[in-house]
Amino acid sequence: MLPVDGTYPTATTQYEKRNVATEIPVWEPDVCIQCAQCSLVCPHAAIRVKIYDPEYLESAPPTFKSVDARGRAAKGLKWTVQVAPEDCTGCGACVHTCPARKRDEQGNRTDVRAINMAPQIPLREQECENFSFFLSLPETDPSLFRRDTIKGSQLIRPLFEFSGACAGCGETPYVKLMSQLFGDRAIIANATGCSSIYGGNLPTTPYARRQDGRGPTWNNSLFEDAAELGMGNGFPPAMSRRSLIMASVVGRTPAPGATRPETTPYSSSSSVPL
Ligand code: SF4
Ligand code: SF4
Repeated sequence: MLPVDGTYPTATTQYEKRNVATEIPVWEPDVCIQCAQCSLVCPHAAIRVKIYDPEYLESAPPTFKSVDARGRAAKGLKWTVQVAPEDCTGCGACVHTCPARKRDEQGNRTDVRAINMAPQIPLREQECENFSFFLSLPETDPSLFRRDTIKGSQLIRPLFEFSGACAGCGETPYVKLMSQLFGDRAIIANATGCSSIYGGNLPTTPYARRQDGRGPTWNNSLFEDAAELGMGNGFPPAMSRRSLIMASVVGRTPAPGATRPETTPYSSSSSVPL
């Protein structure tokens, strides 16, 4: 039910469960080199990676897969690549991107990758259970990775997921990446087009928020009007920041209504437009 005040709930594409894929990727833990490129290119945030403590595996479903995490910082921890079987569109982009190849007994590279497509229906039930368990695992400790790397960016929960974009869309992986890097403070002025159709196909929306309630703010305006909309959306917070910075420099009282912008440890005031 949509509220009457014009707002609508976020993170609702997770309930659509389109089941459009005839085949989905199946992960081979022993072949995986833990690069996270599969997650980076997925247009639908339907394949994800996490590093976590092995103690959580005590309650894992019997078919849930994991392997020892690579890297000194992740020593003693586990790594999993998990597919959301009912949200995957079967585009195969992740499989085409995966650089890892299984080797035969003579050590020669084969065509088998660390993820390979297999029919969805026989896997659907078990992978739904596995994806649900995967989501219940805690988010990866940010101290274990650098978010400005491919692998690190994919260890951050996407705040844009399961959109209605076409299978294999080349645009949505960038929107998803933007939501991972800046989503907790992003203000999006969307120009009408594909991005407004998959971004706000009411009553559902792929834009989500973290457990602490922070996530992208999204708005749409017709075609070329998005520039003015974006300026209008961006101007008040920029003025608010300017007022606070001036107040801290010259000891002035901030302008009425100026609020301290919430930032993550990764943002820098020097990058804030004044
Ligand atoms: S097949 Fe396509 S939609 Fe499915 S997980 Fe791979 S990249 Fe994502
Ligand atoms: S792209 Fe292949 S090797 Fe890299 S994390 Fe994904 S499954 Fe593993």
